[in-house]
Amino acid sequence: MHATATPNGPDRPRNPLLPWRWALHWQILLGLVLGIGVGALLAQSALSASAQAGDKTQAASRVQDGTLYLVLQLLGDLFLNGLKLIVIPIITTSIILAVAGLGRSDAFRRLGLKTLAYYMATSLIAILIGLALVNLIAPGHVPGEATLFGDTQAASFTSEAAAVEGRTTGKTASDFLDVFRKMVPPNVVAAANEGNFIGLIIVSMLVGYFATRLMPEKHDMFLGFVEAVYDITLAITHLVLRLAPIGVFGLIAATVAVQVAKLAPDDRVHELAWGIGKFAGTVLLALGLHFFVVMPLILCFVARVNPIRHYVAMGPAIMTAFSTSSSSSTLPVTMECVEERAGVSRKTTSFVLPLGATVNMDGTALFECVAAIFICQAFGIDLSVGQQFMIVVVALLTSVGVAGVPSASIVAIVVILRSVEEQLKAQGMGDIPLVAVGVPVIFAVDRPLDMCRTVVNIFSDSVGAVTIARSEKETGVLAGPPAG
Ligand code: ASP
Repeated sequence: MHATATPNGPDRPRNPLLPWRWALHWQILLGLVLGIGVGALLAQSALSASAQAGDKTQAASRVQDGTLYLVLQLLGDLFLNGLKLIVIPIITTSIILAVAGLGRSDAFRRLGLKTLAYYMATSLIAILIGLALVNLIAPGHVPGEATLFGDTQAASFTSEAAAVEGRTTGKTASDFLDVFRKMVPPNVVAAANEGNFIGLIIVSMLVGYFATRLMPEKHDMFLGFVEAVYDITLAITHLVLRLAPIGVFGLIAATVAVQVAKLAPDDRVHELAWGIGKFAGTVLLALGLHFFVVMPLILCFVARVNPIRHYVAMGPAIMTAFSTSSSSSTLPVTMECVEERAGVSRKTTSFVLPLGATVNMDGTALFECVAAIFICQAFGIDLSVGQQFMIVVVALLTSVGVAGVPSASIVAIVVILRSVEEQLKAQGMGDIPLVAVGVPVIFAVDRPLDMCRTVVNIFSDSVGAVTIARSEKETGVLAGPPAG
């Protein structure tokens, strides 16, 4: 199948009064806005009902028990499942085809090195922005002798503490080495099942590379089959994308309803509101600088592409990332947007993006650094330059290994803080419960921040694809003549 008509085909008649005739990104935006509105209304009615019943803390479970919520959740889950269904075949087939297409030539090494260099550089820039702002704003510091997390309220996040414990039991400071361990999966089916994408990518690269060494007839037969699976997967992606406005509506409405109903009456969060608000503000400001300043600068001056056009091209992927909080689930949409809407070749898209969704997480790296330092500040601990440098390095490494799923960075923050705890103990400062008390507070308010950092994660991948395509002198990219 060669025809991969976009859901946004150019010959589609437009009618401004019919939303289903709008361009896809406007349809998804409508779903997003309606979802926020419906979610807020649901939360509001659950909050007033539980206030009347005299127990404000019931609001979230009231929302979750409602029929409308269950319908919204179903719509969101169907969309999310559709995306997840595509991810494994799209990663494996696209990487096999990309590597086999690059063949034995230097092209593979060149593309690989460029991709890794871009990913490392932008993640480091993101972390340094976070580091600068968290030191400048110092969201965890409170005036006087008191400390933000020194009181009983911070210690009362017991249900969140249990959830964090469940995700991170047995994780030690050396677990950031897991990323290397995962690179050689002992069982490729189990790797797909467990979402070990880095392992799948390495295996797919090996398959693609050795496919080029097969006898011609076997080579053609095998790659023909892989290409057919890839095309079928893309066709299913188009189908799923048509449902994106409804799926995004369901996901956002359900998330907003639960989050508002959960956080609005939470006295523990209100006690710490000033610190948590400053922390969230610091994260959002840092993410905003990366998204609205660093990324456009790279697009303008390195890729020589019009940033506004790139933001518009990436609209569906940005909104999908925002509503799913998962860069892995967003991958099919990111690939569709970069190839069909931003004009990057399939060769570059299919190599750079699956790798990026797995290893390049600028927003996550930035968040890990800000969160770890914030928690230390909230315990009244001023980290030395050496300790902060260690956090930068571990944030960079762990962001490579973090899975592209909701709240995955919490695990990395635990790994970072356990090593800080060990250092502080060695300095004779005793057992400071950075993980046990600090991380649950972050976890309680994580979802909105996760939505934003996932957007930054996938956007940076797309900018990487465009930048590398331009450096390879591709002419189809949105901006016109090739760079350089
Ligand atoms: N939710 C993020 C992503 O999927 C990972 C994280 O920072 O928790 O990219």
